[in-house]
Amino acid sequence: MATEVAIVKCPDYDQAKVDQAVQHGLELIGGLSQFIKPGQKVLLKVNALMDSLPEQAATTHPAVVEAVAKEVIKLGAKCFIGDSPGNATANVMGTMERTGFTRAAKNSGAEILNFQKAWITDIPSPSGNKRIPELKISQAVLDMDAIINLAKLKTHGWTLFTGAIKNLFGTVPGFFKSKYHILAPQPYEFSESLVDILAVVKPVLNIIDGIVGMEGQGPSAGQARTMGALFFSSDAVANDAVCSAAIGYKPFDIDTTKIAHQRGLGIGELDKIEMVGTDLEEVEQRDWQHSATNYNLTRWIPGWLNRFFSPITKLLRIDPEIDQTKCQKCEICLNGCPARTIHNRNGQIVIDLKNCIMCYCCHELCPYKAIKLKRGWLAKLMGIAAPNNDA
Ligand code: SF4
Ligand code: SF4
Repeated sequence: MATEVAIVKCPDYDQAKVDQAVQHGLELIGGLSQFIKPGQKVLLKVNALMDSLPEQAATTHPAVVEAVAKEVIKLGAKCFIGDSPGNATANVMGTMERTGFTRAAKNSGAEILNFQKAWITDIPSPSGNKRIPELKISQAVLDMDAIINLAKLKTHGWTLFTGAIKNLFGTVPGFFKSKYHILAPQPYEFSESLVDILAVVKPVLNIIDGIVGMEGQGPSAGQARTMGALFFSSDAVANDAVCSAAIGYKPFDIDTTKIAHQRGLGIGELDKIEMVGTDLEEVEQRDWQHSATNYNLTRWIPGWLNRFFSPITKLLRIDPEIDQTKCQKCEICLNGCPARTIHNRNGQIVIDLKNCIMCYCCHELCPYKAIKLKRGWLAKLMGIAAPNNDA
C-alpha cells in the first residue's frame, strides 16, 4: 500500500469543528483502530516547546490534542499527554497549564505525563552515529504501547522546518537536549540524531496541526499564520514532506526528511505519496516566510573552521543579539544555552559570541522575544532573509 497523507481543512480551533476534522482525518487513513488497540497505553506526544498561550502558535493547539485524546479513549485505550519543554529548568506542569494541555486532559479524560520525572534510558544509536552514539530517551515514552505524534507546523531557525520528526526531540528530557547541540553542532549532524530518535520512538501516527502554524522566526518568535488544515499519516517522513512543501520548501531541503527517506524510515518523495482528502494545492501557501538562517551557507563548515576564519565567516553569520529593552532577565536563555556562552554580567544578560555555535536555542526559548537574529554584512548582501526580527 502506498504511503498516505490525509489533508483535512479546518478553519479554526472551535472544538466541535476540530473534533469533526480529526474524526474525518482518521477515517481517511483507515481508522484509529488500525494503529492502537483497546487497553493500550497511548502517549500523545505534543509540542509543549515553552510556556506560551495556544494563540501564540508555538505549541500544538489544545483543541487538537483534546480531539485526538477523545478518540483514543473512545477506543478503550489509556491516554497520556506529554512532552519535555525546551527550557531545562521549566516548571513542566505550569507549561502544561498555560499551553492548555491540562484543560485538554481534563476535558477528554487523559492524564498529563511529566517526562522529566521518569528514568532516562540510554539507547544505542540505531544508525551507529558516532557523534551521539547513545540517545537519552525518557523511560516514560519507552513504557508506552503506542505514540501518537501531535506536532505543530512551523518554520525553524536551525532545522528550517519543524513538523513530525523534529517534534520527537521532546522525548529527550530537559538538560540532555542542549548536549545534543554541543555533540552535533552542525544542523545536518543534529538532524541525523533527530532521525535516530524517530527510528527508536516509532510513532504509529503523526498529526500535524497546521490550522494555525508559524512563519518567520520560528519555532517561537515568528508570527501565527492560518493555513486551516490538519495533516494525518502513519509515516512521519511523508507527513513532513507534504507539510514542508505546503510552506514552500522542497521536501529534501529539510535534512530530517532527506536522511529519514534515505534510511528507509518513510517516504520523502511527493510523487510517491498518495494524498487523500483535500488537495495540497488548496491549502499550500508558498509565500510562507521562512526563518532567518545562514544554514545553507555555513552548514558544512565545522565550528572550529568557522572560528578560525572568523573575520570572513563573521560576515556570513547570523548571530543572536539581546534587545536589552525587552530582556526581563529571567535567565531562561542562560540556562538553555548549550555552549554556556550567555552570562549575567552585573545584572545585564550578555552573549559572548566567540563561543556561540549558532544553534539559536536562546532565540527559541526566550519567552519575551528579546533575542533577535542579527545578520552579518555579507549575509545581508546575499539576501539571506531575517524577516521582521532582524537587528
Ligand atoms: S534574553 Fe529573554 S530569555 Fe534571556 S534573560 Fe532576557 S528575557 Fe530571559
Ligand atoms: S548564544 Fe544562543 S545561539 Fe549561541 S550557542 Fe548559546 S543558545 Fe546557541
